Amino acid sequence: MTEHSDLAAIEARIATAAALAGRKPDEVTLIAVSKTHAADRIEPLLAAGHRDFGENRVAEAQDKWPALRARYPDARIHLIGQLQSNKAADAVALADAIHAVDRPSLVGALAKAMDTEDRRPSCFIQVNIGDEAQKGGCAIADLPALLAAARTADLPVVGLMCLPPADIEPAPYFALLAKLARDAGLAGLSMGMSADFETAVTIGATHVRVGSALFGDRG
Ligand SMILES: *Cc1c(COP(=O)(O)O)cnc(C)c1O
Repeated sequence: MTEHSDLAAIEARIATAAALAGRKPDEVTLIAVSKTHAADRIEPLLAAGHRDFGENRVAEAQDKWPALRARYPDARIHLIGQLQSNKAADAVALADAIHAVDRPSLVGALAKAMDTEDRRPSCFIQVNIGDEAQKGGCAIADLPALLAAARTADLPVVGLMCLPPADIEPAPYFALLAKLARDAGLAGLSMGMSADFETAVTIGATHVRVGSALFGDRG
């Protein structure tokens, strides 16, 4: 395995934040958000042993990942972007985890696709934690019904995901997501990005989604 200094630096920051909260670093999965970056940027991370990657567009992931997966069959793809129901079958065929399940129609489409494809990627329900009109995610008030629908449809729901409002302190939003997950009996918490992943880890994140801090700015 080759060294990758940016990866090692992020992993060290995760370990430090985890230790502050009395958690173990291996309770946190670092998702390297490789959206917009070509295979030649992704490959060094794979060569260094990293396996979890985030993409936000199904079509882009379908272009990039078959060739990479031929060489690294145990790479895991996390779809983190808003998903159209008509892309559900492609998403289920491609992804190991889907982080943006946010409405009943998508629950239905994913359930059907999982039966057809005979594949069951882990699902996170995305919550619109700051109640922002422009953001995806289900309203907090709609979470119990959406979760019930997902469980009835036999989706493998493992946790909740959020994107807190930009430019204000994210900790209260992370804490609220953690409480909602606890109340729902869900262990997974997909929260924290380049600017705030350490805060998220201290509050219980199990999956942090880090792009620019790892790859540099997206063009
Ligand atoms: C792009 C993206 C990220 C990564 O953002 P950075 O700030 O570059 O770390 C994380 N989560 C989602 C949903 C994204 O779309």
